[in-house]
Amino acid sequence: MTKDSKSPLHEETLDPEDWERTRKIGHRMVDDVIDYLANIRQRSPWTPIPDKIKANFSKPLPLDPESLESVYSEFTQTIMPYPMGNIHPRFWGWILGTGTVTGAFAEFLSGAMNTNTGGGSHAANYVEKQVIDWIKEIMSYPPHASGVLTSGCSAANLIGLAVARNTMATCGVRKKGLSQDSKRMVLYASEEIHSSVQKAVELMGLGNDSLRRIKVDDRFQICIDALKDAVSDDRKNGYNPFCIIGAAGTTNTGSIDDLSAVADLCKAEELWFHVDGAYGAWAVLDPAMKQRLKGLEKADSLALDLHKWMYMPYEIGCILVRREEFHREAFSLTPDYLAHDKGMRGISGGELSWFSDYDIQLSRSFKALKAWMCLKEHGIKRYSRLIQQNISQINYLSNLIKHSSELELVAPVSLNIACFRFVAPELSEEKLNRINERIVIELQERGIAVLTGTIIKGKYALRAANTNHRSRREDFKFLVDEIVRLGKEITA
Ligand SMILES: *Cc1c(COP(=O)(O)O)cnc(C)c1O
Repeated sequence: MTKDSKSPLHEETLDPEDWERTRKIGHRMVDDVIDYLANIRQRSPWTPIPDKIKANFSKPLPLDPESLESVYSEFTQTIMPYPMGNIHPRFWGWILGTGTVTGAFAEFLSGAMNTNTGGGSHAANYVEKQVIDWIKEIMSYPPHASGVLTSGCSAANLIGLAVARNTMATCGVRKKGLSQDSKRMVLYASEEIHSSVQKAVELMGLGNDSLRRIKVDDRFQICIDALKDAVSDDRKNGYNPFCIIGAAGTTNTGSIDDLSAVADLCKAEELWFHVDGAYGAWAVLDPAMKQRLKGLEKADSLALDLHKWMYMPYEIGCILVRREEFHREAFSLTPDYLAHDKGMRGISGGELSWFSDYDIQLSRSFKALKAWMCLKEHGIKRYSRLIQQNISQINYLSNLIKHSSELELVAPVSLNIACFRFVAPELSEEKLNRINERIVIELQERGIAVLTGTIIKGKYALRAANTNHRSRREDFKFLVDEIVRLGKEITA
């Protein structure tokens, strides 16, 4: 076969010319990845990117080919050494996941199959259905409920709330839009609710004002009485209340709303009950926490992610909807070129529903594979132990804080998050805020640990959120010692 591009016989492909050479570099990648993850503890959680490396990402558009060896070598020098750091045992910033080796392998395998899980009769869709069935079982959710895997909990919240809006609107939103609805639709959540809920509300055309933010009590849980009053005031004033969102683990402090009370109120007021359970819902796997999450299983829609507390690599979330028909009615759309039917033969047939009938996306990745492989490899009992371990590590941290005269908690510890700060006598609140902000930066830049900050009742707080299966108790002891050392150094 000639390689002369002028020959009319020459046809190109993106497959390698030399499969053996490709095999060799593939093996090298696997070896490098195993070293990278096995030795993660020896590196810093976060390393600032040198300007020289940043400049490397302003290169001209590549016109001609370059060998895979050379592209890969650039990756190992300019990209791999500068991760966000959430795979590191001392990363507790925001609420990020750690990922696993098997998760990484699964991403590679699903990339190789490059299957589209929008619908059709092929194995990946059975895998996704299986994973969703397992999630329903973990959450004590009814077996006939519908569900899809999503990019994360932002997408899951958006889908769940869109089903709520469409189901609860007094006229057909899909055909007529919202403007035809005579009463303005409003919904409720605590003031601690995640920003993705506001984004969803804005995207749905409801407007941010329609999200009523209800105050929280001293445990950062939604005030049920204030919630009841808000619903009744809105009804009196001619609004159309349609949904209450319960938080199963808030981002700031890990607080869990009284979900049973919210469920009861939704029932009494005939409102849709949505739960944002992003990471916190998985605490049902801790027998000691399960009771605190009671009511979660009554949600009309339950949004989750698996890339935080289930330690799976990005991206993977899930939305469950109690009444399958409402879910389908909000998202199903079948043009002629996508015709499918459970009775049909061939790829378009089979007995499975199409996931694209329940999702925003038509083309969908095979993200179910990493969940299927990880759940099988580790077993749910191991996840249960790890979640308990994370909670107990944060209780350990919180005890260290309580016993230190230089540190104080600024919010009660409800789950796997501690909000605290360095304190010193005679320093003003403003000065303390600035010192604690500096501590966060110094911890990050000196490669000690990654925490992020938040504001709790006007106080700047250091925040450690533990969804990390690589952390050990000694890491939290080290963190406390370093914070005290830095605090003293900065105040001196
Ligand atoms: C992270 C988070 C979200 C958003 O989920 P993504 O997976 O980041 O899209 C929503 N709610 C809570 C409580 C979260 O912690």
